[in-house]
Amino acid sequence: MTTPSTIPAVRFRAVARHFGEVRAVDSVDLDIAEGEFFAMLGPSGSGKTTCLRLIAGFEQPSAGTIEIFGEHAEGVPPYRRNVNTVFQDYALFPHMSVAENVAYALMVRGVGKAERLAKANEMLALVKLANFGARKPAQLSGGQRQRVALARALINHPKVLLLDEPLGALDLKLREQMQVELKTLQRSLGITFVFVTHDQGEALSMADRVAVFNAGRIVQVGRPEEVYERPATRFVADFVGGSNVIEPEAATRLRLPAGAWSIRPEKITLSATGNGPLGRVESLQYQGAQRRYVVAVGPDRLSVVTAAGTTAFTPGASVHVDWPADAPTRLEG
Ligand code: ATP
Repeated sequence: MTTPSTIPAVRFRAVARHFGEVRAVDSVDLDIAEGEFFAMLGPSGSGKTTCLRLIAGFEQPSAGTIEIFGEHAEGVPPYRRNVNTVFQDYALFPHMSVAENVAYALMVRGVGKAERLAKANEMLALVKLANFGARKPAQLSGGQRQRVALARALINHPKVLLLDEPLGALDLKLREQMQVELKTLQRSLGITFVFVTHDQGEALSMADRVAVFNAGRIVQVGRPEEVYERPATRFVADFVGGSNVIEPEAATRLRLPAGAWSIRPEKITLSATGNGPLGRVESLQYQGAQRRYVVAVGPDRLSVVTAAGTTAFTPGASVHVDWPADAPTRLEG
């Protein structure tokens, strides 16, 4: 592990990037600490990739300043930033072997063949592909290509690694496995990872901190628990975890405490004989480990998620909806 320094790895001050009329990034302030696993989370088109490209130096800000380890990034070309990128499509060279792909950055720097192949093999071992160096990218699975892209980006020991939806092309099982592996790798290397995703589960499970983007702006930055448990806005409550967002009149009808405006589906319990408001099951989705309901309570609709093993209710059933007193999110202050 590197010793955390007080100078942030990446600092944005009032950074904007406009493309004609499109405000892709609009006045973003951001500090990413050294050694942090930082996720940029948001819907499609919210400006995440543009922020990543601004850090890499593939884009220049229309306004504001970017610092990388305390140095002004303006005018510093991508290859001099000590920052590497793993692209969503991996961007491997198809005609080169896996080892040559991984060693590419060293070849460009004029490192001799024996040395660069030794380094490439070291990197391939790190991503658990020790015996794959002689293959061509086309002879690998999607998950293996992803690891090669990672090894290639790590070979010249960048201080910051940028990852643009790196797991997007993988199936669910492989994605979950790679989430754990990426996290472990990041911990052991101590490199700052900045990770773009539109998948809230991925961001919450991997990141030390998450920045939630909406329409070119960061609407909340915090640890996963903070963003999930105390969403700053309705947008965050809905986008991160699909909360029930509740209008003031509905809050009164549902007997929620004053100021409450959202409640997580999994915080709500259903029972035949509870104390809470009475509703009717409108729909039920069986999802293996859990059940997902929509319950109508008067004119209001609540999403409810219950764990497998709890009593199941069928559509049409009358149920009481209850929640612990501290479950609803209230406006701060
Ligand atoms: P996704 O998850 O779909 O990749 P994103 O959050 O990464 O989305 P960006 O790719 O940063 O979003 O794009 C933000 C906005 O800027 C979008 O409206 C996009 O169309 C626009 N945009 C991005 N790059 C350009 C460009 N080179 N020229 C014009 N508009 C652009």
